[in-house]
This record gives sequence, C-alpha cells and structure tokens, in this order.
Amino acid sequence: MPGFELFGEEEKKEIMDVLDTGVLFRYEFNDQRKGIYKVREFEEKFAQYCDASHAQAVTSGTAALKVALTALGVGPGDEVITQGFTFVATWEAILEVGAVPVFTEVDATLNMDPVDLQKKITAKTRCIIPVHMLGAQARIETIVDIAAQHGIPVLEDTAQAAGGRIKGKHLGSFGTCGTFSFDSVKTITTGEGGMIITDDAELWRAMSEYHDHGHDHKVNPGTRGGEGRNFIGFNYRMMELQGAIGIAQLAKLDNIVAAQQKNKAILKEAAAGIPGVAFRELIDEKGDSATFLTFTLQDRQHCQRVNESLRKDGHGAINFAENTWHFYPKWEHLLGGKTLTKSGYPFAEPGGKRRIVYDPLALPQSSALLERTLVYPVGIKMPAEKLEAQCRALKNATKV
Ligand SMILES: *Cc1c(COP(=O)(O)O)cnc(C)c1O
Repeated sequence: MPGFELFGEEEKKEIMDVLDTGVLFRYEFNDQRKGIYKVREFEEKFAQYCDASHAQAVTSGTAALKVALTALGVGPGDEVITQGFTFVATWEAILEVGAVPVFTEVDATLNMDPVDLQKKITAKTRCIIPVHMLGAQARIETIVDIAAQHGIPVLEDTAQAAGGRIKGKHLGSFGTCGTFSFDSVKTITTGEGGMIITDDAELWRAMSEYHDHGHDHKVNPGTRGGEGRNFIGFNYRMMELQGAIGIAQLAKLDNIVAAQQKNKAILKEAAAGIPGVAFRELIDEKGDSATFLTFTLQDRQHCQRVNESLRKDGHGAINFAENTWHFYPKWEHLLGGKTLTKSGYPFAEPGGKRRIVYDPLALPQSSALLERTLVYPVGIKMPAEKLEAQCRALKNATKV
C-alpha cells in the first residue's frame, strides 16, 4: 500500500534542492530560491498526472476536505452526504465547517450506495462526498449523475485511491473536485500533506486564497504584505520539503500501482479457493489502485472461522466491522456527540438543545456486508517467501 516503502535517493535529491537554497516556504524569497518552487511544481505535475486543470496543495487530506467544502460555500445549516464506511476524517471535515454529516449505506463496491444516496438527499444537501475506499472506485459516474439532477456538487474523497482510474480517467476528476492525502500510510506520501484537484478555475482560486489567510496572490509593488483579500482565510500551506518529496513520489505512482496489482493478483488467486468467497465489486479492475485485497465470506461465522485460521498461520486479515476508525457503528464519539466545546457544539445548539442524533443501527446493509468481509493490505515490495506464506495461509483457510 504505502509510498513509505519507496523513500529513496529520488526523494533525497529533491529535498537537497530545497536545503541548498534554505527556502522552506512556498511563497516569496524570490531572489534566494534560485527558481525553485517545489510545492508549485508538485501541484502542476499532480494536475497534469490526473488530467485536471488545477491542483491546490495543502497540509493534509483532512485539510483538503475542509478547504474544498469551504470553497464550495458549505457551512452551518447545510447537510453533506457521505458514506458510513470511511475514515473519520471525512465527516470531521464536514463538522469542522459547521455542516451536518448524513451517512449512506455502502453496496457491493464497499462504497456509496447510489440507491440509498437518493433517499438521503434533502433540500438542505449542499455537497455529496463519495469515498474511493481501500483503493477502489465508487460508482462515481452514477453518483455524479444523481447529484447533477439536484444541482449538488460532488467532492470525491480520493485519499486512499491516488493512481486509481475508471476507463483511464483518474479518480478525483469526475466530481466538482477531488481530494487526496499523502499521510504516512497512503499510496504516495509526503510525511503529511494533501491535494485538491478541480477543473473549475473560480473554485481553485477560492481554495488558493482561503488556504493562505485570504491572500489574493495578485502581483503588486508591496509584495506579499501589499496583497489584498476577498474574504477571511486560514493557514493550510504546504512546505517546500513536502512538495519536493511529493514530486519524487508522484513519479513512482504508476509503478507502485503496477507492483500492487501484480501482488494482489497472486493473493486473490489463493483466496479464490475458499468455498463461497466473493470479491469486492470493482467498476474497472484495470484501474484499481490495488492497495488492498477485499473479499467476503458466506456469513459472519464463516468469516470469523476463516480469520481465526489465517491468524493461526500468522496472517490475520482486517475486519472493518471490528475496526473502530472506519465504520459508523464504532464511532462512539460521533454517536455520543463528544466534543471539547463547553456549549456542546456542533452536536448541540448554543442553547444546549441537541441538534443531531445518530442511531447506531442506521446502516444495517453496510453492517451485514462488512461483518463478513476481510481485507489484506497489499504491499509494493512483497518478498516471494512472504507472499508464499500468505498464500499458504489462505489455502489452509479453505478447509474451515
Ligand atoms: C487518510 C484519509 C483522510 C485524511 O487524510 P490525512 O492526510 O491523514 O488528514 C481522509 N479521508 C480518507 C478516506 C482517508 O483515508
């Protein structure tokens, strides 16, 4: 799965370019930086790679979601629909802009169920965030069509699926905008970092200004201090060192995906021998970023028996129904409305009246699916012995 496996000479060389000038910041220091603008170059190359018109680098994937939602004008009084199987960051960002997250079921893609999405759109829905979870495609074309019928923008959370495609078109480029993460476990990493891509020049401009305290970035005689502003912003600026690492990692992305596809195919073949096993539905197998192998068993009991057998052989898989960071019923802090604010915001109105109540049993279809689903992360470098041992464990699990 992660780009950290490939941190090497290419990254070091890019970093040294920055250290040689001492300019660690993306803006200004024009004389000292000797023409080196790593964050800007990373943005340009990332946009080009995804075939998008614009890219905006920020400090994290979570910041990318917040900056995108803010630029889309989402705020208090609004609802944002996302799926109940995602990393907590997706809905943290929705709450962070003051809006209310509404959760859909996932279907056999393990991503947003378009049928349930249609039921959850209301007059207050201001954005839809499908997530390309575990490296593979949501039904993004159907979701974009549904959203267009209601005039609602689509933000693709592509944090886990950089390099993924559908019929050659990059994930993140189907919606109004798409966000990416480069944290420690993502397909490419900059340590911490994020990116937003869009074809909408106005939206990009709003993101660029908002992420930099509202600076309008217009050239003027007073340099940065003399720049104007159109609205209140915040600071989510990426550092030059991160941009430098990103350039080197991006150049490896297609090879990362190819290596993962190869390793995944070997594991998949071994898992295919388990009676009643089925694999997650992929919209386009060729465009799978292949960071994970995901398979479902006959029922919950069978799933537990299989995982017990795998664990016994030292190759236990992840069951996301048990994992507390990625699935709705396990988000006790969300369900319980736990917050540091004395007023109880964002779960309660300033007067103390609870404004959002989440039912832990609200997503039965997702629960039924995830409790019989097992997941293996797929590495870029998987030594033959390790792969063989894992395949042997899968073969042993055919008998339980
Ligand atoms: C990792 C992740 C994020 C957040 O990214 P950070 O860079 O860690 O802030 C958002 N959404 C999903 C689905 C993720 O997996």
